[in-house]
Amino acid sequence: MSAPTQPGTGPWPRFAPTDETELRAELGQFARQQDLARRARELDEHPSFPWDVYRALGARGWLGPRQSAVEGGGGWPLLREAALLEELAYRGGSVMAKLALQPDFCSVLVHASPAIRERWFRPLFTGAVLVGNQVTEPGAGSDASHLRLTAEPLSGPEGGFVLSGTKSQIAFASDAQAAVVYARTGEGEGARGISAFLVPQDLRGIGVEPYEDLGERWMRRGDVHYDRVRVPKENLVGEPGRGFTYLRTELTQERALLAVIYLALSRASLDEVAEGVMQRLAFGRPLGSFEAVSFPLVEDLARWEAAHLYVGETLRHLQRAEGPVDGRAALAKWLSNETALAILDHAMQLTGGEGYSHRLPHEQRWRDVRSGRVAHGSQEILRLVAAREYLGRASSPYGPWPKPP
Ligand SMILES: Cc1cc2nc3c(=O)[nH]c(=O)nc-3n(C[C@H](O)[C@H](O)[C@H](O)COP(=O)(O)OP(=O)(O)OC[C@H]3O[C@@H](n4cnc5c(N)ncnc54)[C@H](O)[C@@H]3O)c2cc1C
Repeated sequence: MSAPTQPGTGPWPRFAPTDETELRAELGQFARQQDLARRARELDEHPSFPWDVYRALGARGWLGPRQSAVEGGGGWPLLREAALLEELAYRGGSVMAKLALQPDFCSVLVHASPAIRERWFRPLFTGAVLVGNQVTEPGAGSDASHLRLTAEPLSGPEGGFVLSGTKSQIAFASDAQAAVVYARTGEGEGARGISAFLVPQDLRGIGVEPYEDLGERWMRRGDVHYDRVRVPKENLVGEPGRGFTYLRTELTQERALLAVIYLALSRASLDEVAEGVMQRLAFGRPLGSFEAVSFPLVEDLARWEAAHLYVGETLRHLQRAEGPVDGRAALAKWLSNETALAILDHAMQLTGGEGYSHRLPHEQRWRDVRSGRVAHGSQEILRLVAAREYLGRASSPYGPWPKPP
């Protein structure tokens, strides 16, 4: 078995939810110019935010390109962004794909005032600024609707809000210049009482406590403490009490795109290992000629392709905006994460002691994909979302799920 060298060619296609030959060729060139694979390794060893690559992606229109062109995005269809993320992840690891996806996590800013959009949303697409997303708290993770950080309205002519509380596990805690912060404004119980704010991170009263993470170390997660932080009233994003609704709108597409990234990362290892086992000799033969080595590889290939078909179909449903797809997108993320972690574990095994070390990229990819078992909906929460949608299908206004072709 020889690994394909061109995207989407050979009997074992990579991902190709859409052809996008030109885009893929351009990305290949970019990956070589920027030496993305080497940078990804360095950023794991010496975590920091790679502003140079981020801006280079922005200069080419590859940061959050799916967002509206009116706001400064590229207005790309979802499947084209999937092709971009796949190629970036395959060639440059999780870090490069997640950089491109980052502005999508801030799409709630579309509801912000024109001044905030101009200052913090449009520059996201060129890589001029980095904006984080702060939802999780020490007492509210999966159950984010019960977050407790408060935003108290100030009386007086200037108005504004005072933020108090702690956000936890926040990516880019030390690097983001601003963040979308979800806070309780008290319009109602649970999700109804949550509003979104754009909060510059250099305001007085904000303190950061960094973490030491297993994977995706370049994101430099941390806790962010708010000690009576004054925020102008213009920084309220959209309507009070609607923050949680805005947040959830983007989640489904994000999950489907994260699935693309996990699959691309595991495919990179699968292809590399397939090549490696035919070169390495053991007991006088190529390692790949032993069935104990070739069988797990072809089993992984089949599992990968099955997951890839499922994710591809989910993206097409999403792009056509057909029926309720939250459950399907949740399962796409769940399935691709399970599949990718198993493939990456086998990749480490089939490359022996070297595979267990930092000399080969499989362990880093495994650590990076491992974060997806928790972030953006844990494996448990994803199945809850899907089960609710699937089991409730009889009463769904959209008919059966998944929608028949
Ligand atoms: C790499 C990474 C980056 C992150 N970046 C950010 C960020 O930028 N901003 C941000 O706001 N957050 C971020 N998070 C936090 C992430 O959103 C939370 O970790 C996630 O929501 C889970 O919350 P928790 O850690 O509090 O776990 P908990 O919610 O306490 O869950 C603990 C365990 O219980 C399970 N569980 C919970 N409820 C149920 C249930 N009803 N049924 C079955 N099992 C259940 C969970 O699946 C999990 O396994 C990040 C996390 C990671 C790992």
